[in-house]
Formats: sequence, C-alpha cells, structure tokens
Amino acid sequence: MRDFAYARPVSLADAASAFAGGGEAAFIAGGHTLLPAIKSRLRMPDTLVDLAAIPGLDGIVPDGDRLWIGALTTHAAVAAGAGAIPGLVAMANVIGDQQVRNRGTLGGVIANNDPAADYPAAVLALDGMIETDRASYAADDFFQGMFATALADGEIVTRVGFRMPLASGYAKFRNPASRYALVGVFVARFADGVGVAVIGAGPGVFRWTAAEAALTADFSAGAVAGLVLDADDLNSDLHASAEFRAHLAGVMLAQAVGDA
Ligand SMILES: Cc1cc2nc3c(=O)[nH]c(=O)nc-3n(C[C@H](O)[C@H](O)[C@H](O)COP(=O)(O)OP(=O)(O)OC[C@H]3O[C@@H](n4cnc5c(N)ncnc54)[C@H](O)[C@@H]3O)c2cc1C
Repeated sequence: MRDFAYARPVSLADAASAFAGGGEAAFIAGGHTLLPAIKSRLRMPDTLVDLAAIPGLDGIVPDGDRLWIGALTTHAAVAAGAGAIPGLVAMANVIGDQQVRNRGTLGGVIANNDPAADYPAAVLALDGMIETDRASYAADDFFQGMFATALADGEIVTRVGFRMPLASGYAKFRNPASRYALVGVFVARFADGVGVAVIGAGPGVFRWTAAEAALTADFSAGAVAGLVLDADDLNSDLHASAEFRAHLAGVMLAQAVGDA
C-alpha cells in the first residue's frame, strides 16, 4: 500500500480543512469499501480523513414524521434501533455479514452508491432527506446513477431523515457469493401513497412507478401480481440475465408487500 497521511478531526470544519489541504483526499467511515479500493489501487489518496471522532454523526432520533439516522451509524445499530420502521430493520439485517454490519455505515453506503447496495432502496422508497455539511437533498435528486450522487468533492453526509411509513417491507435475492443483491425491492406505505424502489437490477437505484401506482390504488400482493420490469434497461452479467432480474423483481415485490 502506498504511503498516505491520516487525519482524525473532531469537527466537521476540521474535516473539511483536512480534506482540502491534503492533495487527493478521501473520507473514511467503516472502510469496507474504501480500504479494498486502496489495496487494489483503484483509489490512491494522499490523505485519509477519518470521520469517526466527530461527535453527533451517529445515532437514531425520531423527530416529527421522520426518523433521523446519523451517517456514522452502523448497519448493526440500525438493525437494533430503527424499530419504528420495520422494513429498515429487515434491510439492515441482510447487509453483508455480521462483520460488515458491525463496521459499515449508512453514510458510506449512500456516498458510494453501489448499484447493488441495499440502503439506496430504503432511502428512495422512504422519501429520505439527505443532510450534509453544506446542503440538504431529496432522495430523488441525490442518487444519480452508478456510483454517482449529488455530493460535491469533500462534502460530508451528516444524517438521513427517513419518512416514517404506516407499513414497510424489504425483500432481497442475495448473490450467494457476495451477499450483495441480485435484486432488492423496498416497499413503503404512507397515508398519501406508496413508495417502491429497486436496487441490484439496473445501473442504479430507481423507483418502480407502475408498482407505486398499483399499490397506491390497492395495497395488496394481488394488485401487483404478474407485474414485471422492462428487461431492456436492466443489468445482464455472469450472475443473472436482464430477463431473470426482471422476473425476480416481481417476486421480490410480492414478498416485500407481504412482509409490510
Ligand atoms: C464482504 C462485503 C459484503 C458487503 N455486502 C453488502 C451488502 O450486501 N449490501 C450493502 O449494501 N453493502 C454491502 N457491503 C458494503 C458495506 O455496507 C460497506 O460498509 C459500505 O459500502 C461502505 O460503507 P463504509 O462505512 O464502510 O464506508 P467507507 O468504505 O469508509 O467509505 C466508502 C465511500 O464513502 C465515502 N464516505 C464515507 N462516509 C462518508 C460520509 N459520511 N460523507 C461523505 N462521504 C463518505 C468514502 O470517502 C468512500 O468514498 C459489503 C461490503 C463487504 C466488504
């Protein structure tokens, strides 16, 4: 591994200046994506800025109609503490394995925006508000395609506010080797409509608008029976064809509705 400087700031302002003053810099949270990328030389930062010592970046706090979860909150802590949104607990429990859940963080996953990562589906279906040290984004504006988000260079995710639904469910068909999703579907039912988001199937997370409309009219597995995604826009690789993913999305949708 190449030499790099390491900073452990205790405030967001210090983190921003450490990031700005160190050549090519990278924030590190759980390190489960960043460290493998550094080891394989896909990333070669001059400075690592560790976010772990900044107070106030973790924890779960209800406020009005939202459940706010800090960026540094681990998947295991969400599984243990987000009982107000059962679908979120179900999602956190199927991320990676216990080691990944003990280290990986909400902020790290959404900043990375891997198309097969679970959290983006929950953030989108639950109308998440993403707060940073500079701005606030609606989920529909934040996720911008494969590994792309609205974050500017050096911008720090601080917390995410999930709108609390009447009911929610998450179903994921795991790649048996990586445990990432071949397809995952998050369903959230609100008094004024239903959110449905899909991950793993396409180049990035997306809303399944036909499922949202059908479930808003009638929240039942029957209302979406036989609904499949258009395979034209889906991923096809050695793990699954686009047609298989299109079919699987319908199966995961029915399962998520049944669990909600
Ligand atoms: C074996 C294995 C299996 C996995 N399986 C799954 C799975 O099934 N589902 C799933 O969703 N994920 C899975 N993951 C990924 C896991 O959830 C990671 O922890 C996650 O992708 C990155 O989070 P992190 O906290 O480790 O971030 P890091 O690796 O520390 O950082 C990732 C990126 O985000 C940036 N970053 C981190 N925090 C912030 C912040 N607050 N603001 C701005 N930028 C930030 C970093 O600079 C870096 O670019 C798996 C990982 C491994 C190693």
